[in-house]
Amino acid sequence: MDRVNSHIIAVYPGSFDPVTLGHIDIIKRASKLFDKVIVAVAASLHKKTLFSLEERIEFIRESVRDFPNVEVKPLINKLLVDFCKEHKANAIIRGLRAVSDFEYEFKMAWMNRRLYPDVEILFLIPSEEYAYLASSLVKEIASLGGDISSLVPKPVANRLREMRERIKKEGTGEEFEQSI
Ligand code: ADP
Repeated sequence: MDRVNSHIIAVYPGSFDPVTLGHIDIIKRASKLFDKVIVAVAASLHKKTLFSLEERIEFIRESVRDFPNVEVKPLINKLLVDFCKEHKANAIIRGLRAVSDFEYEFKMAWMNRRLYPDVEILFLIPSEEYAYLASSLVKEIASLGGDISSLVPKPVANRLREMRERIKKEGTGEEFEQSI
């Protein structure tokens, strides 16, 4: 990259199934650092998600309404680096929680850099209270009737509660199990 230009657009990619307060913490931090942040919500290729792409996008949109420089877009059938080029983004943000995230994130970062040397990959760490928070954990707790209201935005908590109620009535938790 020549000079870091004055307008920095960062992409924050992920599956966000569903978005948690840990993700929102990272989005908030990024929105203060960059001119524009695009949250890229990936259509899942390999894993069945609990929520549809549209629902996952909507949950994030509802949670970032107060951040004028944050946009939420789908990332479907294309490489993240191509998405970045298309949106003139010069940075990719990922969240780092514990050491266990490191190896996978490093591998992805090297590969993305190889595919698009001009993009910078930046890691942000969340507030301590979200350091062990993961979407899969939230789904697991919710499927067993635990209280997840301090872990996810309100619309997500309400929706998970509804799903749990339905499961209790119908006696099947298949969607949860397949996506954890
Ligand atoms: P992916 O399927 O790409 O890992 P996720 O939705 O699980 O998508 O996570 C997207 C990004 O957010 C990843 O960089 C992940 O490490 C980060 N992340 C997930 N949970 C948290 C959290 N509690 N705090 C900070 N970063 C997080």
